[in-house]
Amino acid sequence: MNTTYHIKNITLRASLFFLSLVLINTPLAADPVLGQDFVNVTKPLESEIRALLEKAEVETQNSQYETALHSLNDAYNLADTLSNSILDRSILNSFANIYYQTNQLEQAGRYYQQLVSLDTNNYDYESLSVSLFNLAHVKAFQNNYIQAGELLSQSLILSESLNDDLGVAFGLKALGVNAQAMGDYYNASQYLIDALHQFESLGEINQIIATHRNIGDLKLEEIKIDSAIAHYRQAIDMATEATPNNIIVPLYRGLSSAFEKAENYQLALVTHKAYSGLMNLEREQQAHKATQHLQVEFETQQFADENTRLSQQTQNQQLELESTTNVVKIQYMVLLLTVGLLFFVILFWSRSRKQEKALIELATTDELTGIFNRRAIMQHAEKEWHRSCRTKNPFTCLMLDIDHFKRINDLEGHSAGDKVLKKLADAINDNLRQTDAFGRIGGEEFLLVSCESKLNQTKVLAERLRKLVENFEYGFANIKKVTISIGLAEFNNEKSVNELIQHADQALYKAKNSGRNQVVCY
Ligand code: GH3
Ligand code: MG
Ligand code: MG
Repeated sequence: MNTTYHIKNITLRASLFFLSLVLINTPLAADPVLGQDFVNVTKPLESEIRALLEKAEVETQNSQYETALHSLNDAYNLADTLSNSILDRSILNSFANIYYQTNQLEQAGRYYQQLVSLDTNNYDYESLSVSLFNLAHVKAFQNNYIQAGELLSQSLILSESLNDDLGVAFGLKALGVNAQAMGDYYNASQYLIDALHQFESLGEINQIIATHRNIGDLKLEEIKIDSAIAHYRQAIDMATEATPNNIIVPLYRGLSSAFEKAENYQLALVTHKAYSGLMNLEREQQAHKATQHLQVEFETQQFADENTRLSQQTQNQQLELESTTNVVKIQYMVLLLTVGLLFFVILFWSRSRKQEKALIELATTDELTGIFNRRAIMQHAEKEWHRSCRTKNPFTCLMLDIDHFKRINDLEGHSAGDKVLKKLADAINDNLRQTDAFGRIGGEEFLLVSCESKLNQTKVLAERLRKLVENFEYGFANIKKVTISIGLAEFNNEKSVNELIQHADQALYKAKNSGRNQVVCY
């Protein structure tokens, strides 16, 4: 029982689906809005709505139902501000068609119902006939055959009164299929045969073939096998190369089933092969289309992946470059810091060297005369004494003392005394040899250390110095002449430098006591 009902249902659905496909392309489903009525609409808002409707139609054709619904919603909202029933009808119709095509029957039914009301209010019976017909399809899909039958009857009456022969033919056929679905084979047969005659009188060849097939299906269901075979054969005979596959395939399928029921397995097999061949061809075409589609999708994805990979690579390279740049920057900074540090170290070092030099000079120089001070000349003398001890080279110490210096201070003033000291030191210093050293060891006493020369030579030097001093002109008022006395002692294995200096001092003492302004050797 259940199985029979199910088979009936599938047959009905298939018939209605085919019918709906045909209807979309027939004048019955023509949209007045996209026809010439719309040409006169010039207002911008209406043009915008029309553009949205056209967009939705293209999107629907490309199976982009979601976006199509968006476009329609936009159109609906814009149309709300107008009161243009032609536009309203077109929008509702587009909504209904999308929901119908996407098998959302509840919504589709609601929109077709709205169209029925709209057409009724507008007394637009031509459109009303189509709306009733479409609503009937939805009801039949929802297995509401009684209501579908009522709606189809109303549509048929309208088509008849409008002398719409093609509409009448479709109405009859739909009523036949619907009656078959309800198990009313008698009426189904009547309606289908009437529809067949109607299509015949209109010369609608594809519809004649299709209706023969409908009758064949009905007869097969009624187990009137011979009649079924006759109708299928008639249809197949009429079919040409131009007949679409979706009309031919069900014919062969029906015929094969009929032969099988008649237990003529040979013909059943041949027929079955014929339609499976057709189906395979169609499947192959579909598969090819699907493959192409997948190929395009795959390539697009590959491009996207490659793009992502490349941008990732670029990003990585950029990061690498940045880190390398940072390392180089750090290296430069370290280099710069090192150079800076080195510069400061050198600066500091040279400054401290200068300071050290200045300190040494300060520590070894006599402030007034600029020659060696006592400490420095004594150190030098000691060094030379040590050397002479080792090498036995000649080495002489000369003690110089200004004669009656106190008198200069007393008669010419202390600064005159200083002037004498300076002039004397400068002059003697300028007349020394490379190997000699000269220093001030006390008030007006000096020590001259002479190396590498014999006593006789040194004596000549001392005499020369004495004469040099004697001949100086100072321009003083009271003192006309300044003289010096010199005591001289050559190194002769003395136990210390002090002993040698003492010997020189003793020679000096003798020079003083002998009348001054003379050179005396120890
Ligand atoms: P003599 O011939 O015996 O050496 O007699 P003199 O006067 O030279 O010796 P004395 O030791 O009696 O006097 C030395 C004087 O030198 C005493 C001191 O005031 C003076 N005098 C010492 N140092 C300086 C100095 O730096 N500048 C000046 N202007 N006088 C000094
Ligand atoms: Mg003295
Ligand atoms: Mg003196």
